Amino acid sequence: MKISVIGTGYVGLATATVFAELGNEVIGADIDKGKIDKLNKGIMPIFEPGLKELVKRNLKEKRLRFTHNNKEAIEHAEVIFICVGTPPKANGETDLKYVEAVAKEIAQSMNSYKIIVHKSTVPVETGEMVKRIVKVNVKQNIDFDIVSNPEFLREGTAIKDTMEPDRIVIGADSKKAIEIMKKLYSQIKAPLVITDIKSAELIKHASNAFLATKISFINAVSQICGLSGANVERVAEGMGYDKRIVRAFLNAGIGYGGFCFPKDIQAFIKIAEKYGYDFQLLKATHNINEEQKLNFIKKVKKVLRNIEDKTIGVLGLSFKPDTDDMRFAPSIFIISELQKENAKIKAYDPEAMEKAKLILNDVEFCTDPYEVAKDADVLLILTEWNEFKEMDIKKIKSLMKKPLIIDGRNIYNPEDMLREGFSYISIGRKDVI
Ligand code: NAD
Repeated sequence: MKISVIGTGYVGLATATVFAELGNEVIGADIDKGKIDKLNKGIMPIFEPGLKELVKRNLKEKRLRFTHNNKEAIEHAEVIFICVGTPPKANGETDLKYVEAVAKEIAQSMNSYKIIVHKSTVPVETGEMVKRIVKVNVKQNIDFDIVSNPEFLREGTAIKDTMEPDRIVIGADSKKAIEIMKKLYSQIKAPLVITDIKSAELIKHASNAFLATKISFINAVSQICGLSGANVERVAEGMGYDKRIVRAFLNAGIGYGGFCFPKDIQAFIKIAEKYGYDFQLLKATHNINEEQKLNFIKKVKKVLRNIEDKTIGVLGLSFKPDTDDMRFAPSIFIISELQKENAKIKAYDPEAMEKAKLILNDVEFCTDPYEVAKDADVLLILTEWNEFKEMDIKKIKSLMKKPLIIDGRNIYNPEDMLREGFSYISIGRKDVI
């Protein structure tokens, strides 16, 4: 099938590449010329395991190409995926300006029947908005259909998640569009949820809101564990065996970040507000997430007493492991709060350094965890990269001013750290000092 993907970020690039790998003729389009030039040379603009090999293979076999000319992409395809960003406005609502711009461009360049699929995360009723924009701007009387096909991939496992999703959601009101979408997805084995456009749009926001709430729930429980002397890891394990609960997303830490949960939770609160519903549960989810970062900073201040001029080593900057994505990463807030009190920050991340350098000021970026540890008063673990789980902890101890780790991701066992001679503070578990 001839398909185009407009917006080749984390979602668009994975979508375009996987559809090419499945044998379709795919064009990926993006207004960012730098990104497109890199992609056409086989250079990845983002870090995503397995992506580079797949892009290179499909470029070589000419199933995949990239352009910064949306018109070319629109004319090429029968199915057009909109995968542009949907960032938050200052008040938390979704800013749909990129989706609107692409809808207008599609209308103006439409040369035959098109299925316009919004894959970006958008508020319920965006499908109707896109339909209106296309109808108003289309030059000739050309037929088109709107489909909502939300994306559920996780950065770090984007290719696997696109190839083997838990489900495929297709929201449409046209039989023809549903049949074409089913054919497009026929090689991917996953339950198909065929529904109306509004329900499809809501499935995405409801799913992200539920997952974020699960994280905030265990973070709230971690507070009680910390205060009572219980261990949140054991509590999560004991809860997780219950098939109605499941262990995933019950990891206590410094809260969720990234391009999806923070903005999608705020957006869902605003969507509810628009319909006159006060989504109190989600407000609590958000507040607990904010508190979790503040509580972590309190722990740092409590143990260091005065943080002015202290050297604080930070391990992990990306919002989660296996990605270079720094958008809404908790590390940004935590580092800036510590800098307000004149702490000296040294930091390392296996993949996110390039992006972090564009965001964080006055940070000494190091080449590995050992350079961070050298002469540090404390090490903070902010992302649970495997590299940190496998560090030579004895070497780390020998390099630090004092052996003190504050672990925002619970990657070590407190007893092991005690045995290694560390003071070790983590989330919802007994401090070892
Ligand atoms: P991204 O910022 O990485 O990519 C968006 C791309 O769209 C950028 O490369 C940008 O240059 C391009 N773009 C903007 N306007 C354009 C235009 N007019 N024409 C062509 N290209 C244009 O964003 P992302 O992380 O891929 O997210 C995209 C959407 O998918 C968002 O709605 C997001 O909420 C949703 N989503 C993201 C993830 C994730 O893990 N990142 C997962 C599921 C859903």
